[in-house]
Amino acid sequence: MKLTCPECKNDVDLTRYPNLAPEDVIECNVCGITLMVNSIGDEGVVAEVVDEGK
Ligand SMILES: [Zn+2]
Repeated sequence: MKLTCPECKNDVDLTRYPNLAPEDVIECNVCGITLMVNSIGDEGVVAEVVDEGK
């Protein structure tokens, strides 16, 4: 699986999340932002930035 961070555009290391599922909250290992998984498909993982300030 592959996830490109929507914030920093780098590939997020998903090996730390072997049981990744939609609505899981993960952290970008490059920029440290918090992301929530929207969907997991053949073309990779889609995630959005979690705005913790709201
Ligand atoms: Zn990032």
